[in-house]
Amino acid sequence: LKTFKNITCTFCGALCDNIEVKVKDNKIEELKNACAISRKKYEHALKDRTVPMINGQESTYQKVIEKAAEILKNSKNPLIYGLSSTTAEAQKNAVKLAELTGANIDSTSSVCHGPGTMAKQLVGMVTATLGEIKNRSDLMVFWGANPVEAHPNHSKRYTMLAEGLFKKSRSDREVIVFDVRKTPTAKMADQFIRVEPGKDFELLMALRLIINGKEPESKNGKIAGLDLAEIEAAAEKLKSANYGSIFYGMGLTMTGAKYMNTWAAMSLIRDLNNDQQRRFVMMPMRGHGNVAGSEITMAWQTGYPFAVNFSKAYPRYNPGEYTAVDLLANKEVDAAFIIASDPVGNLPKKAAAHLKDIPTIILDPHWNFTSDFADVVIPSALKGITASGTVYRMDHVPLHLRAFLEDEWPNDQEAVAEIGELIENA
Ligand code: SF4
Repeated sequence: LKTFKNITCTFCGALCDNIEVKVKDNKIEELKNACAISRKKYEHALKDRTVPMINGQESTYQKVIEKAAEILKNSKNPLIYGLSSTTAEAQKNAVKLAELTGANIDSTSSVCHGPGTMAKQLVGMVTATLGEIKNRSDLMVFWGANPVEAHPNHSKRYTMLAEGLFKKSRSDREVIVFDVRKTPTAKMADQFIRVEPGKDFELLMALRLIINGKEPESKNGKIAGLDLAEIEAAAEKLKSANYGSIFYGMGLTMTGAKYMNTWAAMSLIRDLNNDQQRRFVMMPMRGHGNVAGSEITMAWQTGYPFAVNFSKAYPRYNPGEYTAVDLLANKEVDAAFIIASDPVGNLPKKAAAHLKDIPTIILDPHWNFTSDFADVVIPSALKGITASGTVYRMDHVPLHLRAFLEDEWPNDQEAVAEIGELIENA
């Protein structure tokens, strides 16, 4: 058995970099420090792999790359979509390909934390590394997020149960959960505050008013399903922290007022930080392993985090117009290149249906619903298992992925670059 230590798990945005893997005959024999999600994913990693396919017929790797280049070259308005489960190097090459083909480029961020990113552009976000939060935060708030189920190792590595420098254990931290239902994370908290569905914005604004010394108005003595006294008590709790941290999930970004929810939460942080004695930070609980990287890489390359259009040869940004769901649902794109994603399995039906009507290329190590309909299937190596590269954790800390198994297929980065070279040299 060969042992690999400090392997980075890419199966969620927490990117735990303490996984120990024992390997024999190019197979994983033992895993240490893996959570229930990652254990299942590692076990499945070498199964259901894709092979090169064109129109349902098995082909060669070279031919699928050539066919992909031909489709994108002949397209008048292509879409490049996915990107959140691949490396920063592949994301960078995808942006280059979008520029070359005048494509729209969008990541899965537009259907998860994109609204939070738009709010960040309006009001700014005070944040920190997970290490700093682990060491210092005495009040942790989870709002519309359920890491106990979605990021199982997050709480013991960075938050509730982590051993920090100054905050050593669960008893050194107060934990509050705001959510519409009592999740497993809420069961671990000191206090669970049930928010009326779709009313997060009202509650956040009420908290802001109280923290700023004003009284919020309410019709029947209730706001977001809570008595004013309960909201005042929550505001007092927030004010009592020395170092507070708010982790938010899609329960905040994709419900009710959407990006205005996150705007209100970021504004609440700003209000709380007006007291010089207190520090508050905020962080999205990112789902896909490198979804944070997709925004960072795209912003570094184009100036914008997602929903970018290159039809005029320079980047233009407009969520709602250049986001994949809108482009597909409005039938505005005539070809699609899906990188490490499964839009047929995840996007609204109307958007996914258009993918079945246009030439679609998928680059993914595993077979998924989109592969079933794709005209071209390009296999690829497994990020963090058979392919190395760079990924960004939810707190924007970049981590290196080390390959510990061998693969017969090249990685995403090479495939995307090769398609670009064929188009450039045609
Ligand atoms: Fe992997 Fe996320 Fe589990 Fe950590 S919490 S081991 S990154 S799936």
